[in-house]
Amino acid sequence: MPVDKSGTLFIVAAPSGAGKSTLVNALLEREPGISLSISHTTRPPRTGEEYGRHYYFVERAEFEREVAEGIFLEHAEVHGNFYGTSRKTVEGLLNQGRDVLLEIDWQGAGQIRKSKPDCVSVFILPPSRAELERRLRGRGSDSAEVIERRLRNSRGEIAHAHEFDYIIVNDRLEDALDGLQAIVQAVRQRSQLPCQRHEGLIRELLADP
Ligand code: 5GP
Repeated sequence: MPVDKSGTLFIVAAPSGAGKSTLVNALLEREPGISLSISHTTRPPRTGEEYGRHYYFVERAEFEREVAEGIFLEHAEVHGNFYGTSRKTVEGLLNQGRDVLLEIDWQGAGQIRKSKPDCVSVFILPPSRAELERRLRGRGSDSAEVIERRLRNSRGEIAHAHEFDYIIVNDRLEDALDGLQAIVQAVRQRSQLPCQRHEGLIRELLADP
């Protein structure tokens, strides 16, 4: 069935350890109308991660072939691994009128802003450096070397926070979640073409007595 309005593309980015995935998963529970895009990556799976649910885990050679074929809407190297977003999946969902959320880094966000200027981007900040470090170390799924690398890289990511439409500080998860949901709801109200949404009422109010 043709839809008269394509969905909204939301981008959520953050330094590793800011609590982005927890926040995004909680948002998706509250807002089931949003589809999360599953990225392709050359990073090896962490314990418990599944192919097709968390990522499409691919070898480096396959990723390079996919880049050459132009299948990615954006792609970037992050912490020494490659990550990319499937153009076909995202555009297919948007064209069906679905809202789509990309959990990607600042480089990918920059590429998307160029090709899809209507996207809405949100950057998640940790409440402090000490808390960022505590969360990264507490995750228990990465080696000490990986944690150190991610901590070093966090400054470079945070330096791009001002490029985003919204910034949320993830101190208390519930508060950050309320903030993120408020953004989604406000954007949806805006993009639902108010006149179309209230067409019947407006027609009635304008009708001759
Ligand atoms: P992780 O390895 O912890 O799952 O993700 C590392 C970083 O890569 C995070 O900042 C995450 O948002 C980012 N990332 C995940 N998927 C993509 C993607 O498809 N494109 C880009 N540019 N970054 C991604």
